[in-house]
Amino acid sequence: MIPFNKPFIAGKELHYIAQAVTFGNIAGDGFFTKKCATLFQEQFGIAKVLMTPSCTAALEMAAILCDLRPGDEVIVPSYTFVSTVSAFVREGATPVFVDVRPDTLNLDESQIEAAVTERTKAIVPVHYAGVSCEMDRIMEIAERHDLLVIEDAAQGVNASYKGRALGSIGHLGTYSFHETKNYICGEGGALCINDPRFIERAEIIRDKGTNRQRFFRGEVDKYTWVDVGSSYVPSEICSAFLYGQLELLDTIARRRREIYEFYGRLLEPLAVRGLLELPQIPADCQSNYHMFYILLPTQELRDSVMDRLRGEGITAVFHYIPLHSSPMGIQLGTHETKLPVTENLSGRLLRLPFFYSISDEEVQNVTDVISEILQSVNSRKNVTANAG
Ligand SMILES: *Cc1c(COP(=O)(O)O)cnc(C)c1O
Repeated sequence: MIPFNKPFIAGKELHYIAQAVTFGNIAGDGFFTKKCATLFQEQFGIAKVLMTPSCTAALEMAAILCDLRPGDEVIVPSYTFVSTVSAFVREGATPVFVDVRPDTLNLDESQIEAAVTERTKAIVPVHYAGVSCEMDRIMEIAERHDLLVIEDAAQGVNASYKGRALGSIGHLGTYSFHETKNYICGEGGALCINDPRFIERAEIIRDKGTNRQRFFRGEVDKYTWVDVGSSYVPSEICSAFLYGQLELLDTIARRRREIYEFYGRLLEPLAVRGLLELPQIPADCQSNYHMFYILLPTQELRDSVMDRLRGEGITAVFHYIPLHSSPMGIQLGTHETKLPVTENLSGRLLRLPFFYSISDEEVQNVTDVISEILQSVNSRKNVTANAG
């Protein structure tokens, strides 16, 4: 049996959890939560990082910080996880869906400007699979139209674009430490603040709408309710686990790169024969190797490969049902938007098992089964062609 994902321990995660309890503080913003935030600020060059209970929470905070009015528009991909868009819809914004690039499945920067209107307030690029969007172009469009950029870097922790860490480029950025991501703590996230004018309000929103952080710093003599907000502070237990992984940032990254490259080498012969397509990484992007996916020629074949892998005890999965045509998209009236690349690729993409502790032998196993399936399909096709 090869699962799609498996949570892992890389170093001192469990030791640090015990330490957090011993220190006598397992609520929020203790020793480990601060260690995690400081590490990101220093290593990734981010003005302020606020740890959160999830990337969804960080996206919700970002949406509140955008100060949206009903009818304001936010440019988003449809090919993404729900939270990228739902966080902004909760604030009353109208999502304007733009198609993705066929090579990276990232927001197609050449189509963004045509979607900008008087009501546009923000662009939310998602760095799919840990490969950066074309950020220079996106930031330039945003600047020209006075828009905010919120990078959904849930999958992009420790990846970079032209040497700059993902999450450090837009006005705001968000990370995820969900158990399926590169660095994990079960459920967790962070809000990256690169435009310092958002720092003070973000601290308030994160702490139930109170100015408690200012009180802790001695800037006010009591703390009270000053704004909207929610409970967006993670437990020290999660931060302690996460810190155990962040100490090994590069070790974990190195292993993921090996796994990715091994998949690539083993599947290359099938790609050369045109039986599948492999993911691509543009020269300006340093990937964090968040996932390995393949593109099959048709949805029918994708579904049958997925079923046959399952029959061999191997779990491969697909995502996403494009958001513009989801039941919520139909309610919002976005389902008529034409997004040909999104519709085509989402039906043909298959994600292969990928986690820190997967062995070379398991990767070999997965690719052997794929190879067998595709060659048998191909030879059947040839027989039919010859008979015809
Ligand atoms: C995983 C993911 C999220 C949500 O992260 P959580 O930490 O589970 O809330 C948001 N956006 C993208 C692109 C993701 O992959």
